Amino acid sequence: MEDYTVLLAALVALLLGLSTGKAWERYKLQEGRWIDRRKARESPHYILGLNFLVSNQLDPAIEELRTAAGLNPDALEIHMILGNLYREKGQVGRAIQVHQDLLQRPKLTRLEHAYVMLCLGLDFKKGGFVDRAREAFDDVLRLEPKNQYALLHLEKLHEEQHQWEEAYAIRQQLTKIGDRDQAPRHQAILAFLENELGLQALKRMDYQGASTHFRAAIDLDAHAVPAYLNLGDVEFYNGQLKAATEAWERMIRVAPERAYLAFDRLESAYPKMGTPDRLPELCRRLVAANPQDWRARLALARHLGGQGATAEAFELLLEALAHNPHALSLHQAIWEVLSRLELRPDLVRRYVALSKDSVFYLDPHVCIRCRYRSTELLWQCPHCHEWNTFVEERIAPARDDDEMRA
Ligand SMILES: [Zn+2]
Repeated sequence: MEDYTVLLAALVALLLGLSTGKAWERYKLQEGRWIDRRKARESPHYILGLNFLVSNQLDPAIEELRTAAGLNPDALEIHMILGNLYREKGQVGRAIQVHQDLLQRPKLTRLEHAYVMLCLGLDFKKGGFVDRAREAFDDVLRLEPKNQYALLHLEKLHEEQHQWEEAYAIRQQLTKIGDRDQAPRHQAILAFLENELGLQALKRMDYQGASTHFRAAIDLDAHAVPAYLNLGDVEFYNGQLKAATEAWERMIRVAPERAYLAFDRLESAYPKMGTPDRLPELCRRLVAANPQDWRARLALARHLGGQGATAEAFELLLEALAHNPHALSLHQAIWEVLSRLELRPDLVRRYVALSKDSVFYLDPHVCIRCRYRSTELLWQCPHCHEWNTFVEERIAPARDDDEMRA
């Protein structure tokens, strides 16, 4: 929705600019009278419509803009926006109709043609007509080779179909035409795309190719966490334990907050290398560097628990729980330790007391309008002031892709 608003604002600004540039075309003969086209755009319906749009009230915006469009059948931008609003409301057929009608108009400038075509591409995309959407975006690029919106949407279409090479080529184009201060962002996205190419190579059992892609991803962006993990995995499959642990350890140096992604991997690799103590050492270093790190404490506790140091494990788990009381994995680990200690009453009491202090996480309620959170049910939201918008917050699993497509 936000993307859409930004795009719309850009379109509005652009077309208002166009219309002032063509001041000589301002007057037009309509039903035997000269009509001031610009005046028509200043009709209350147009202004009201834009105001509703800005405050995100789509239905009244459509109502006003439809009236404005009826009063002023020639104003391209009003019809274009109206079509976009239909699309946003899910009335894709209607949006396509409006935008296709606009394309039939004689004397469209190249820029107008490109932007109507872009809107049509978005309609097709929303309607799930992938091929027609791609054709529309390609048409936009024929008219305007550097149109960033068309490039971005084409890139997404390729990504959705796992055509990573095509997406990569488009991102390279975007890098070339984009601002220099955006370069790190482009590099980071190119790194993710390289990583996907590596995973594709891995599926083909092409370990050499995969490893080349993962290394390229890391060269593009030193913070490409998945590329380090996957590079380590390839080395591990190939029996290169030292190279594998080096890749994972490098990831931990550049992104210590993601260190936990490598814990299981390192825990199986270190003993095979004859250095089983490196995992607890690593966890202790991470906790010392960041006292909030509950995952490093959990990993250390599991490691110590496995070696029979149950009391030390329990203390670590309680410390971790203080930092993240809603982590189910911590509660499970604590119960495991407690049951191994045959529910020592003093330890159970400490655990219950600590859980009670984490009152913020009890019964969380959330405002469905503005996402404001509260520990209790409120009838009016203190943030957005809406009435009766609180629901109990439940975490539901994300639906998988197949369900989404069904
Ligand atoms: Zn609210």
